[in-house]
Amino acid sequence: MQHSLATLTTLVQEISGAENAMQAMKAIVARLSLLMEVPVCSLYLKSPSRSKLILAATQGLAESSVGKIRLALDEGLVGTIAATKHPLNLADAPTHDKFAFFPQAHEEPYHQFLGVPLIHLRQLTGVLVVQGKAKKPFSQEAEAFLVTIASQLAATLSNIQKSGEWIPSRKPRNPYKRFNGVISSSGVGIGTLTSIQTQVNLDKEPVKKGEGINEETLRFMSALEKVGDDLDRGASRIEKDLPEDIVSLFSVYRMMLDSPELKEGVLDWIQQGRSAHWSVRQTALDLAAVFEQADDPYMKARGEDVRNIAIKLLTQMAKRVKSTLPDKKTPIILAGHLISIADLSEYSTSQIQGIICTSGSALSHTSIVANALGIPAVMGVSDLDIDRYLQLPVVLDGNRGEVIISPPAAMLKEYRQLQRNEQKFTKSLADLKDQPAVTQDGFHVTLLTNTGLLADVSPGLLNGAEGIGLYRSEIPFLIHDNFPTEEEQYQVYKEVIDAYSPRPVAMRTLDIGGDKQLPYFEFKEENPYLGWRGVRFTLDNTALLVTQIRAMIRAGHGRENLQILIPMVSRIDEIKSIKEVIEQSIAELQKEGKQTSIPKLGIMIEVPSAMLLLDKMAPYIDFVSIGSNDLTQYLLAVDRNNPKVSRLFDNLHPAVLSALQIIREKCSQFNLPVSLCGEMASDPASVLLLIAMGYDRLSLSAHRIPKIKWLIRQTKREDMLRLLQKANEAEDEAEIRKMLNRKLKALGL
Ligand code: PEP
Ligand code: MG
Repeated sequence: MQHSLATLTTLVQEISGAENAMQAMKAIVARLSLLMEVPVCSLYLKSPSRSKLILAATQGLAESSVGKIRLALDEGLVGTIAATKHPLNLADAPTHDKFAFFPQAHEEPYHQFLGVPLIHLRQLTGVLVVQGKAKKPFSQEAEAFLVTIASQLAATLSNIQKSGEWIPSRKPRNPYKRFNGVISSSGVGIGTLTSIQTQVNLDKEPVKKGEGINEETLRFMSALEKVGDDLDRGASRIEKDLPEDIVSLFSVYRMMLDSPELKEGVLDWIQQGRSAHWSVRQTALDLAAVFEQADDPYMKARGEDVRNIAIKLLTQMAKRVKSTLPDKKTPIILAGHLISIADLSEYSTSQIQGIICTSGSALSHTSIVANALGIPAVMGVSDLDIDRYLQLPVVLDGNRGEVIISPPAAMLKEYRQLQRNEQKFTKSLADLKDQPAVTQDGFHVTLLTNTGLLADVSPGLLNGAEGIGLYRSEIPFLIHDNFPTEEEQYQVYKEVIDAYSPRPVAMRTLDIGGDKQLPYFEFKEENPYLGWRGVRFTLDNTALLVTQIRAMIRAGHGRENLQILIPMVSRIDEIKSIKEVIEQSIAELQKEGKQTSIPKLGIMIEVPSAMLLLDKMAPYIDFVSIGSNDLTQYLLAVDRNNPKVSRLFDNLHPAVLSALQIIREKCSQFNLPVSLCGEMASDPASVLLLIAMGYDRLSLSAHRIPKIKWLIRQTKREDMLRLLQKANEAEDEAEIRKMLNRKLKALGL
């Protein structure tokens, strides 16, 4: 028996290459029986209703029994393993008192029995069994091997199990499936799954013979012109919705399209008798390879642009797109590995109801644009095979980071209702814009907004934001192709500061690292969240920091509403160093004859050490802003982006609530204004407790402001104080959330 990790890896790869669920499961049992040198290997999965265990695939038992052997959850040996979630290793299975006999399986010759549970994220998915003829238990080594392989396969099998496609009586044509990804832009989107990129696959384009040099040249040249026109039109179509810096990304595509390397490369091949198709594909792959081999991460990333442009040209030449795309009115959910801004521009923004990327994170370009346009989006849905589900109805739940393919009618109805309710509720809140966020017993909360895009600025003002509590300056850095210059930053910051003046604007210095990587300054770390992040990165890259601080101070001059906010502070010397940079920058600017004013300086409390050192930090700072996303991550040791532990990430964890009360108390003691700007500020349940704790400044996404304002206006702080007392007595977040949800329901949410 081979036990190496390499063997496991091969098995996993083999499965992921299988064409469908049945094939994947067949591959598993066949390969395992070979590896373990046993005549029988069988896989039982829980039925989607979770009430039965069904034989889903077997090597060695009668094939005809697949789908037919069904056991209750505690029936037979397999049911016992499911119920106890423990392996069972027996010398003589038929003599066991739980043994259930199924004549159609033809398992009479087999005595030796080993079964292990398949468990994914604490949920039982099924049971994996091997059987042999000997009358002795399997070796410890065999048992350990099967347990290991079961844990390796559990995630894949859990996806198969949930799909229900493997049950023979089910029709696989309209598969109801759910996929998880990273929450990127909130809201619910319903539409037809559509993909531009799957119309043409650059790596799979067939070799075609040319129809003559003239014909092929003409075909290529007219495609070149048409794609160029489309790009220009696309840019003008979305420029009203997006800031200039994003629209300018179109020019990158335009430059690629017009580059002599592309054009001459293609024409050379055509001259040699190749088809325009083949020539575009070959030239693009060659060019992309050159880019992708470059050391400079910026140049590396351009390989993707060349591929995108080639796909556009091939699509244009094939004229396949128009016939398969839904008409202009059909609501669509646009899906792709990565979706470029040029892809988005093929549609009117009202037609795109949602965006799904199989790669990317919450801070990828597509995600930033989706947020700016208010389109629900989910990133990193790596298990989704887009081609397979094209043209099927999809629900995109941007609030939970979920994609639901072919939802059952009742579920679809529920989501439509949810969407309608949200729209109706949002409309009804418009009147609140100029009303204060004050509880019924007079506790006033200042509602600020979180932003980072210019396009985001007006929604904040339209929704009644009383300032910017968090300007994520890394976003302008992410959408550039290089570090933006002082002048470029100045222009962007000034526009934001002017738009909000006299309301306060807290601009955070660059907070990259962790999951936020600049495409042109990539670095790999074993533990990125505990590494070169936020202020640690900027202090080590002083030139970058000085440029940014200078741009901010210049932009703030004359308005007096700029505040500078420092992310990821964990030590006092970091604040002192930042203060020095600010003082030096001011001195330099004054020497250059530029007028300046001294901005207020604040720190983000995200790292527990900052909370514990607050007394000593207080003399150096003017205000504090709590980044509850990171504070929760670092307090609970739960990676905020890891779906495997996402159920453990909850702002209502008693330890987080305790920390927040300590911070609030210390801030009062030192007279430090404090706000909270993590996602917690837009979670209605959390807001109830924040009010009780005395937090009177919350910063949240613009479109969440009306709902939170409405909630605050429904409440009495006195009642919230009682809830906080109960929350402080609770043992875990589930208990607290349940109690708060009851209150929200009573309030009408
Ligand atoms: C936070 O950590 O809560 C926060 C607001 O910062 P970011 O989400 O940008 O890390
Ligand atoms: Mg943070």
